[in-house]
Amino acid sequence: FAGLVAIVGRPNVGKSTLLNQLIGQKVSITSKKPQTTRHRIVGIDTVGKYQTVYVDTPGLHSEEKRAINRLMNKAAATSILDVELVVFVVEGTRWTDDDQMVLNRLIVAKKPVILAVNKVDLYKDKEDLLPHLQWLGTQLQFLEIVPLSAEKGTNVSKLREIVHTQL
Ligand code: GDP
Ligand code: MG
Repeated sequence: FAGLVAIVGRPNVGKSTLLNQLIGQKVSITSKKPQTTRHRIVGIDTVGKYQTVYVDTPGLHSEEKRAINRLMNKAAATSILDVELVVFVVEGTRWTDDDQMVLNRLIVAKKPVILAVNKVDLYKDKEDLLPHLQWLGTQLQFLEIVPLSAEKGTNVSKLREIVHTQL
């Protein structure tokens, strides 16, 4: 039994870092520079007879003038369509046009979506996050909203459990 899960989000939100934490191996390239990931990289998390196959997508771009961006958008859009579950990664309280574009695609795709709010380690006061989390909750009927830190590993196991219960 294997479930296919896409990790989507704009460049630099921490998708590759999160994937590495989820499967506990350095299979995906992470970088401070956006657009490091240009291909779908698959990680497999095996727990007993269950396998979760993670797909790390290239970043979606609202700027479609460059051919490479068009190509990356196409690859990312396709990866949303052929999965059972989507983990949508956003960054703390930072919301850009690129986040909005990914969200718009998820609304159209009608897939079950777990929202991972990453980089919470950057917020000393967790109260600073709450209004944004509440606003995010009004944008789509998310299965769950999970604040986490992919880099520190905070709450990553909680996300992992939620993914496993959904597959
Ligand atoms: P991707 O483009 O979405 O795959 O993002 P990456 O995984 O390559 O991460 C982009 C940058 O964000 C890197 O410099 C990471 O070290 C950083 N980053 C990722 N997760 C976290 C986190 O939880 N907290 C902080 N402070 N930085 C993070
Ligand atoms: Mg990446």
